[in-house]
Amino acid sequence: MPESDRDSVMEKAIQEFDEITRDSSKVQRETLKRILEENGETEYLQNLGLKGRTDIESYRACVPLVTHKDIAPYIQRIVDGDNSKILTGKPVTSISLSSGTTQGKPKYLLFNEELVLNTMEIYRLSYAFRNREFPLEKGRALQFIYGSKQLKTNGGLTLTTATTNVYLSSQFKSTLKSIQSQCTSPDEVIFCPDFLQSLYCHLLCGLLYKDQVQFISATFAHSLVVAFQSFEKDYLELINDVRTGVLSNKITNTIIRTAVSEILHPNPELADEIFKICKGLSNWYGVIQEIWPNCKYVYGIMTGTMEHYTRKLKHYAGTLPLVCSEYGSSEGWIGSVVDPKKPPESACFAIVPDIGFFEFIPLKNNDDDGNCEPVGLTEVQVGEEYEIIITTFAGLYRYRLGDILRVEGFYNSTPLVKFMCRKNLILTINIDKNTEKDLQLVIDEASKLLSAEKLDLLDYTSYGDVSSGPGHYVIFWELNSQAKDEVLQNCCDCMDRTFIDAGYMGSRKTGAIGPLELRVVEKGTFRKILYYYLSCGTSVGQFKTPRCVGACKIVLDILNEGVVERVFSRVYD
Ligand code: AMP
Repeated sequence: MPESDRDSVMEKAIQEFDEITRDSSKVQRETLKRILEENGETEYLQNLGLKGRTDIESYRACVPLVTHKDIAPYIQRIVDGDNSKILTGKPVTSISLSSGTTQGKPKYLLFNEELVLNTMEIYRLSYAFRNREFPLEKGRALQFIYGSKQLKTNGGLTLTTATTNVYLSSQFKSTLKSIQSQCTSPDEVIFCPDFLQSLYCHLLCGLLYKDQVQFISATFAHSLVVAFQSFEKDYLELINDVRTGVLSNKITNTIIRTAVSEILHPNPELADEIFKICKGLSNWYGVIQEIWPNCKYVYGIMTGTMEHYTRKLKHYAGTLPLVCSEYGSSEGWIGSVVDPKKPPESACFAIVPDIGFFEFIPLKNNDDDGNCEPVGLTEVQVGEEYEIIITTFAGLYRYRLGDILRVEGFYNSTPLVKFMCRKNLILTINIDKNTEKDLQLVIDEASKLLSAEKLDLLDYTSYGDVSSGPGHYVIFWELNSQAKDEVLQNCCDCMDRTFIDAGYMGSRKTGAIGPLELRVVEKGTFRKILYYYLSCGTSVGQFKTPRCVGACKIVLDILNEGVVERVFSRVYD
């Protein structure tokens, strides 16, 4: 598509968004009506006595709030081959496997054509906003994306991750081609079953097309950090491949070998150039901007639990902007970034009012079970936090996604929300309550002590150890290099002090919770956790390091096997 046509398509996407957000309340009514008209005949909605009504009031009166546990039996029947209209009017084309790293185990969800269309809508929209601030020239994108294994359910449906379902759709490629830049890697690299071979070839293809690359992306910031950590390790081998035109013999998968070999030809000049750039870098600072001189930005989900990786990513990116991507889940899409210049720590998402029907449970005045009446999209208040409830075109009705958002403002009449954390308490031993966000704040505070020592925290997680009384919090850290005992002790004390939830502080003072323990693990331990999740079917693109490992003994064993140092807090002694 010529650039001028592409720009007008983009401007149209923004204009359409402006139109649907001008009266978001009306659009929400219409969206719910469409969802209920399409799915009104399903067993689920019929049983709830909706009797064809499509207005918000009847919907709220008849349909209960649910979690995944409540609808899992319905989904299981579809997985097992029942193709009657159980949850959706339109056929289910595939089953998506959510990453399982947020709630302990993967969940099955429905995937259908509507989700593909929603995905394209949100891709186009966020690209349009991005392109307005950071216009791209014709070129390519180095995208660290990975399809995961495609299995078959008992009922014959494809079972894979939501991102893979999207990559497999024909619309994905045509959308990428028309609005974004073509991926540097051939499809065989994206769909290679071996993650490490796939990653190596993504890097190699990125080098081959180095001057054409317009932006570098991955679904999550974590994948970008993993990619450039591998680059640090493998750069000489990659340069050798560029020089000789022969792919490293560690690429054993014949399909990916053939595909990459087709575009790989001896290029000593390019190899020399890359070598010289790498040698000129100081501790890999700015590697992205130096090797890919036409790259305009680095793009991916950098909010929520991914915020931790942005420090390392900034180091690799140099002065290139880090641009945040959309907010959604395997269940469905929610919001787009409309102000891509905002850095990850203050990024917000404008909720797309025609992509689903959204409700919000206020956290203020809420009891512990979240029993508080939800409000509608346009009834939320700036500064307040809410748990989001979604109703989608893919068979979810008043579904508690488990995410907590804060309203930061409005874009026309749709809320601009900041992702706060997952709802689940991750650290709780008795009356103490700490969420993912609380843990992140504590980690950020202690990281300042590390920075002062020029140390980097590569990854972290936590565990409420109640194996012996009194229970205590255990924080696992992987560092880029060894820290002095005194530094670790200060970090440990700092974390114990920074959990300021009254329940925790009270319990620590009375001894009902024991001293916080910092366990430092050897380098590579968190990689092993990633590999464990990949072996369970998670795709690298959807992987999020679990911030608490309570539910998974195998992960806890991996961590404990890697422990090289243990320190206990002296605070409250
Ligand atoms: P999954 O079901 O594996 O696709 O994971 C979806 C979850 O990832 C969401 O419910 C959020 O908790 C998190 N997530 C997705 N997009 C974002 C984002 N842009 N910022 C922060 N967290 C996100």
